[in-house]
Amino acid sequence: MLSIDEALAKIRAAIQPLAGEEIFVADALGRVLADDIIADVSHPPQAVSAMDGYAVRAADIPAAPAQLTQIGEAAAGHVFAGTVGQGECTRIFTGGALPQGADSIVIQEDTTTDGDTIIINEAPELGAWVRPKGLDFAAGKTLLAADTLLTARDLGLASAAGATWFRVRRKPRIAVLSTGDEVVMPGAPRRPDQIVSSNSVALVAYAQVLGAEAVSLGVAEDRPESLRAKLKDAAGFDMLVTSGGASVGDHDLIQSVFGGEGLDLGFYKIAMRPGKPLIFGNIGGMHLLGLPGNPVSTGVCAAIFMRAAIECMLGLPAKPLYQAARLGCDLGPNGKRLDFMRAKLTPSDTDLPTATPFDRQDSSMLAAFADADCLIMREIGAGPARQGDVVKIIPLGFSSLQF
Ligand code: AMP
Ligand code: MG
Repeated sequence: MLSIDEALAKIRAAIQPLAGEEIFVADALGRVLADDIIADVSHPPQAVSAMDGYAVRAADIPAAPAQLTQIGEAAAGHVFAGTVGQGECTRIFTGGALPQGADSIVIQEDTTTDGDTIIINEAPELGAWVRPKGLDFAAGKTLLAADTLLTARDLGLASAAGATWFRVRRKPRIAVLSTGDEVVMPGAPRRPDQIVSSNSVALVAYAQVLGAEAVSLGVAEDRPESLRAKLKDAAGFDMLVTSGGASVGDHDLIQSVFGGEGLDLGFYKIAMRPGKPLIFGNIGGMHLLGLPGNPVSTGVCAAIFMRAAIECMLGLPAKPLYQAARLGCDLGPNGKRLDFMRAKLTPSDTDLPTATPFDRQDSSMLAAFADADCLIMREIGAGPARQGDVVKIIPLGFSSLQF
């Protein structure tokens, strides 16, 4: 059986970033840049005032007080057309362009006025309160590199730099296929021995949270013909994600049926709990991720492996899987598989958050999974752990949207 790290390395080696598409800057939150963004303009585009006050020539005020004559005004967005000569100044406001001839700003608190006569009570340093052209960035500078996940702040920066349309990675297109004679789509009639295909809904949503576009293809029955027909429906997607039928029971058909349809198997089976039966490969030019059917196994595997696959398609660099937390209770030794325990997370202002696992950890228990904030990871063969020990967790609150 593969370790998680080995499986992730195989996924990353097998998946290339998708092509780019043009997007308008205001629509690009959470998208991944396909190209660098280079400033078209300098910011600010010319020298401007950082304060409300008077634009002066510092040499005119070797000592305070000094008297100057106001010859005009430079409000933001309204350039003063003239030139400030010796003994002269203009009124200026924050963001106003520094007039020709002026080199410094005296803030209005340091002045008194008498008609057009301005008394400067504090001698300015040369360049005081002036934001020179390009203080923030100069035209031609690379501001955001390809493969950057765009935050709200990045969008502000890109638009200030004059980037209106630019290329981001196309969203991965994912087909979600559930399998099993006992599962039926939400809203469809069902017999007492059937359950709702919660995975059909959850997997589409997991994929969306991770930055992909996803469509449910419904449910394949546990018959080879049904599975083959659904495989045809998936043609053209970037990745097919299946749930159920991944083990080697009599009714677990993914490997055998897809094997006959040209599946190039990357790996099968991971030493983890929940989620041991996991299939990764390529079929018909699509990536295939075959997840176990138990809803919590599906969710945990999606949080680790579907996330990695989508990140690769988006061209995102690999991020650490785990964060640190303190254990909220004592735990016994772990067995032969990496264990992911559903847990509540209590934040702290001054210390790591505390992760407290639920008492029952059955992989069919959707209510506890929905209530969980994180997964506590326990290493293969780990000894007993004590309350307060530092443990590795996978937080479940990930989203591509960032401030
Ligand atoms: P399987 O991996 O096909 O053996 O399924 C394992 C367990 O997951 C069974 O109890 C199934 O009923 C359940 N299961 C399989 N597919 C789904 C699904 N789409 N939604 C909810 N539960 C499922
Ligand atoms: Mg099944």
